[in-house]
Amino acid sequence: MNIVLVNPPNCGRSIPEEEYGITSLKMIFRGEPLALSVLAGNLAGHEVRIVDLKAEPEGMEKLAADGGPDLVGFTAVTCEANTVIRLAGEIKKRFAGKSPIVVVGGHHASCDPAYFNREGIDYIVMGLGKLSFRLLVDDLAAGRTPAIPGVVRVRQGGVFSPSLRKYSEADLVDELPPRYDLVEAHRDKYVMSGVGGKVGFVVTAFGCTHCCAFCSIPSLTDGRYLGHSAEAILRDIDLLGDIPLIRFVDANTFGDRAAARMLATRIIELSLGKKFVADVRADTVVADPDLLRLWHEAGLSAVVIGFEEIDDGRLDRMNKRSSLAKNLTALSILAEIGIRVIGDFIISPDYDREDFERLGRFIDSSPIALPIPSILTPIPGTPLFRQLQQEITLTDLDYYTFSNAVLPTRLAPKEFYTLYSDLMKQLHHHIKKS
Ligand code: SF4
Repeated sequence: MNIVLVNPPNCGRSIPEEEYGITSLKMIFRGEPLALSVLAGNLAGHEVRIVDLKAEPEGMEKLAADGGPDLVGFTAVTCEANTVIRLAGEIKKRFAGKSPIVVVGGHHASCDPAYFNREGIDYIVMGLGKLSFRLLVDDLAAGRTPAIPGVVRVRQGGVFSPSLRKYSEADLVDELPPRYDLVEAHRDKYVMSGVGGKVGFVVTAFGCTHCCAFCSIPSLTDGRYLGHSAEAILRDIDLLGDIPLIRFVDANTFGDRAAARMLATRIIELSLGKKFVADVRADTVVADPDLLRLWHEAGLSAVVIGFEEIDDGRLDRMNKRSSLAKNLTALSILAEIGIRVIGDFIISPDYDREDFERLGRFIDSSPIALPIPSILTPIPGTPLFRQLQQEITLTDLDYYTFSNAVLPTRLAPKEFYTLYSDLMKQLHHHIKKS
């Protein structure tokens, strides 16, 4: 089959910009579409291309190559869902003679698959799709009717009842690497601001066993944590050649501490000479500082930690299973080791002026090198969404960029966004200082 995998363009919308002329809060997503390279890695025997519309906004024209695609696969996070539906419709019209099959996967398809049960889309792949997407392609190429757990045939008007997949290590297809070569032309555009220049993405594990109320990650594997072997991870790092900075893109890289220890030991033995950035939980740092020391020796230069809040009550309501005390301890351990910290914070729509100022003071006095505050957003399919669904006032998913308030704000919206923008400016000064 002639298969084109499409990474949608930057397309989120911004209330602060549209309503109040505050342009500094619009989210721009950068980085290589690793999820698509991973899928492509398990499509041997087919003609596969990746069109990255974030790196190449005019890339849709490439779909016409080789007589047009037989199958187009999209990935999408929530704020990209409507754009993907629109692009799917355009593809169906443009290549009407060829009737390409359109498949959607990724975060939003995993959390809220029913959203894609509409015209222009043929199949939805939920969760970790490296194996199930391959099985789907095989069935379609052979003219069989697919019956694959985790893959849904779109049937508008009918009852939407996806058959769920029991994810296991087999879904990782560990032995087949991502097709990094398919995005090589854009490599210079894949940079990580605030940490370093050119960066390569590597996945070490999927899913998470925690269940923070706002998070969509557990739905990718139905709450399981599935890790690649050390050899597969080293192979992928090697495939990225001389790129000096490797970003592990798992949401919880050290979720299996024994495996993380083994990988760091192998990297040290091999003297790879790379720098690494990984997401870790504060409680992992506190429980196992020696693991972080070992990783620092292996080249870990920065970690991303979801601190989320500076108040235990709010952390509890998010089911974060952490505390301010733990977060502070983690910060001092990392400072002592010499690992930089990128800190995620979540601004609740019920923030008042004092809450913004308190967060600003906390971050300014902390050793966090790169603070990233975003607005609490109940992503459909998450526990937070189920909890707050009735209160949501902004349902257009184009605005689900984590920089818009989709719930009512305690402050007047203009004051809320102005304080958010002021906080971001203050944080830029903090970044320059640190
Ligand atoms: S926020 Fe992090 S720790 Fe919590 S569920 Fe998501 S990935 Fe797991």
